[in-house]
Amino acid sequence: MTRRALITGGAGFLGSHLCEYWLQRGWQVECLDNFLTGSRRNVEHLVGTPNFTLVQHNIIEPYFPAEKPDVVFSFASPASPPAYLANPIHTLKVGALGTINALGIAKRFGATFVLASTSEIYGDPEVHPQPESYRGSVSTIGPRGVYDEAKRFAEASTAAYRRAHGVDVRIGRIFNTYGPRLAPADGRAIPNFIAQALEGDPITVYGDGSQSRSFCYVDDLIEGFARLVESDEHDPVNLGNPDEYTILSLAEAIVERTGSNSAIEFKPLPIDDPRVRRPDITRARTILGWEPKVTLEDGLDRTIEWFRSLVA
Ligand code: NAD
Ligand code: UDP
Repeated sequence: MTRRALITGGAGFLGSHLCEYWLQRGWQVECLDNFLTGSRRNVEHLVGTPNFTLVQHNIIEPYFPAEKPDVVFSFASPASPPAYLANPIHTLKVGALGTINALGIAKRFGATFVLASTSEIYGDPEVHPQPESYRGSVSTIGPRGVYDEAKRFAEASTAAYRRAHGVDVRIGRIFNTYGPRLAPADGRAIPNFIAQALEGDPITVYGDGSQSRSFCYVDDLIEGFARLVESDEHDPVNLGNPDEYTILSLAEAIVERTGSNSAIEFKPLPIDDPRVRRPDITRARTILGWEPKVTLEDGLDRTIEWFRSLVA
């Protein structure tokens, strides 16, 4: 029997890779997006293929699919800090109402529900690396609170729909993921640095660049979600690459791999910018048999190649 996925935020960076992944495995895919931060361009090559449907819809409003989905992927939300800071109320609403609407679809059709949660629910962490049992350190009223608290609400809603209605749920906590189809104007560190390096513009490192992140290549992340769907794990699972880098070393690596002459320019550190971030992926390793395979060097090279193809 052909399975059917409904993917909210399907025209975004990760959503478009998810659409492709399930289509390649013979699934039908309904991609729903309001194009707030994503773009029709990300899925243009899929439009017109037999198992793919693209629907423009704002998931803050209820949605009634014409066909029963087997799995609902809830990926709709601004994800880049500049995007959620520019759309604070939308971010709160899509994390809250958008998640509830997607959970309602899963409940009505008896579908599996998969939440794209985030390492941001750990805030500026006092525990390092972060295991799923760590409850986080978020400033509720800080500027990043609109994203962090919306995702925390989304996790609480997902757990409640399981307890109250028996919905079959999955929660993947995504750590910084990158790859082709990140928009050059997305605003996150990797797309900013690659775009700046290719243009010969200064590389904007915020603060002194000693803050750390752990970067996962998109193919690894999507494989992690595929394994999560096929598992019967209902509690949160960290999905990310445990190799940790300072932002300054990331900037230097991108300058080197692009062969750019760009200089590094230090800019003010945004408020509440987490000092460190690295996933403890023990649960993903033991429950899903998953760990990332793509090194930062390989992943950057593939992403740089894609950015170059945009201007070619
Ligand atoms: P993205 O901005 O490229 O994708 C988000 C998509 O959601 C966009 O296509 C956007 O138009 C859509 N969207 C936003 N509001 C919507 C609404 N109201 N109705 C319908 N669609 C809406 O970002 P991404 O990196 O692909 O992130 C996808 C999901 O993964 C997000 O939920 C994000 O919070 C989560 N996530 C991503 C990362 C990462 O490193 N990429 C890390 C943690 C969590
Ligand atoms: N950053 C930076 N320069 C940029 C964009 C981001 O130095 O042009 C920093 C940012 O302050 C943070 C890290 O890089 O410390 C990762 O930022 P990103 O926006 O990619 O994601 P975050 O992990 O903060 O959600």
